[in-house]
Amino acid sequence: MATATGNAADLVVIGGGIVGLSLADAWLAREPNDRVVVLDKESELAAHASGRNSGVLHAGFYYAPDSLKARLTRQGNLALRAFCAEAGVPIRETGKVVVTRNANELDALRELHRRGLANDVPVELIDAAQLKALEPLAVTHEQALWSPSTAVADPIAVARALANRVRDRGGQVRLGARVTGAAPGVVEVAGECLTAGHIINAAGLYADRVAHWFGVGEEYRMLPFKGLYWYGNWAPGRLQRHVYPVPDPRNPFLGVHLTVTVDGRAKIGPTAIPALWREDYGGLGNLSLSESWQVARTFPKFLTSPHHDVPGLVRTELPKYLRRHMVNQAAELVPSVRAADFTKRGRPGVRAQLLHLPTKKLEMDFVVRSGPSSTHVLNAVSPAWTSALAVAEYIINGIWTRAFDR
Ligand SMILES: Cc1cc2nc3c(=O)[nH]c(=O)nc-3n(C[C@H](O)[C@H](O)[C@H](O)COP(=O)(O)OP(=O)(O)OC[C@H]3O[C@@H](n4cnc5c(N)ncnc54)[C@H](O)[C@@H]3O)c2cc1C
Repeated sequence: MATATGNAADLVVIGGGIVGLSLADAWLAREPNDRVVVLDKESELAAHASGRNSGVLHAGFYYAPDSLKARLTRQGNLALRAFCAEAGVPIRETGKVVVTRNANELDALRELHRRGLANDVPVELIDAAQLKALEPLAVTHEQALWSPSTAVADPIAVARALANRVRDRGGQVRLGARVTGAAPGVVEVAGECLTAGHIINAAGLYADRVAHWFGVGEEYRMLPFKGLYWYGNWAPGRLQRHVYPVPDPRNPFLGVHLTVTVDGRAKIGPTAIPALWREDYGGLGNLSLSESWQVARTFPKFLTSPHHDVPGLVRTELPKYLRRHMVNQAAELVPSVRAADFTKRGRPGVRAQLLHLPTKKLEMDFVVRSGPSSTHVLNAVSPAWTSALAVAEYIINGIWTRAFDR
């Protein structure tokens, strides 16, 4: 660790994705005179998950009622809408339909409806005729679920606007600032040391590694899953609603779906195929052999997990490397989808999914851990983009009330 140069901050946030920016914003809203510094290793904002996602403002009906996701997604959806309105970032009110492909999926659909009601999220079970009125291109078996509060925005526009609000509140957002080490009270960045009253780890795909520097979360390893997308050449607005299948509740992924972008384009994805290293977006960019070795050692633990339908996941996800296969899956939800129309690759993203080593379980909920003079946001997987402002509020309150220390 380099020697401290006298650069002192009350709060240093490692990671300037949507979660790190939201945390800095929430801290400054509470302590406007504090010196808050956000450090991100990339030269541009939202270079990772926060700029490589579907931009869907989730409603919050998927999640077990006692989970953080259930509580913070509904609140986050409202907070993000309010923020976008204030910052002039457009939102497209698409709503979303979840459709069934056969009678076997009806029970799971009704469970989503029950969860939505339990989570205080507006959801409605609809029949095929009501579905036709909402989204003429989608088909379902007997019933579907309608979620009017699901929407979409451009995630990069949101990140830029939020970074501006952090700066307006007096915070610093430093790009190209890779943290190479940290310990209680001190962060090493580009050979310089910053002293910090408190450190928050919001490092996304590297959050486990940063937590381990503090002796926190040793029982977790990152197991990255890659999301690929294909854009359609349809006229903007031809698809009006997001169209999702019923997910397998044993796995933390939602299945191949169709979403509408904020400018009305249709896209298919994302997949949940294993990534070979953390920032494995395609090609050999950011290749890390040591990370690949770690993934290769961690993956077999997941493969033998009794908690998930691993064979089913392998069977359904691996073929999605083939565009035609993915498009065929989407055509089960929207039959007018043709492979020839969905040929433009979207920007892939990688999910920062944690595996709990002792139980071999993929962590389904957000995980927040306190360490010495530090707080660690682990497993900020979907829908942490939707939930970020509410997650930040929850964490900052937790730090001040020492709720995470108990
Ligand atoms: C394919 C895909 C689709 C998704 N779709 C949705 C969706 O539609 N709706 C939704 O709500 N959620 C969605 N999500 C989830 C959502 O994108 C994430 O939950 C959210 O972006 C997490 O934000 P973050 O700030 O934790 O992570 P990130 O955006 O990854 O930010 C972490 C930051 O930490 C920085 N960093 C890492 N290590 C260091 C270091 N050593 N020094 C300095 N900086 C460092 C990185 O550069 C990065 O910018 C999706 C995710 C994926 C992958």
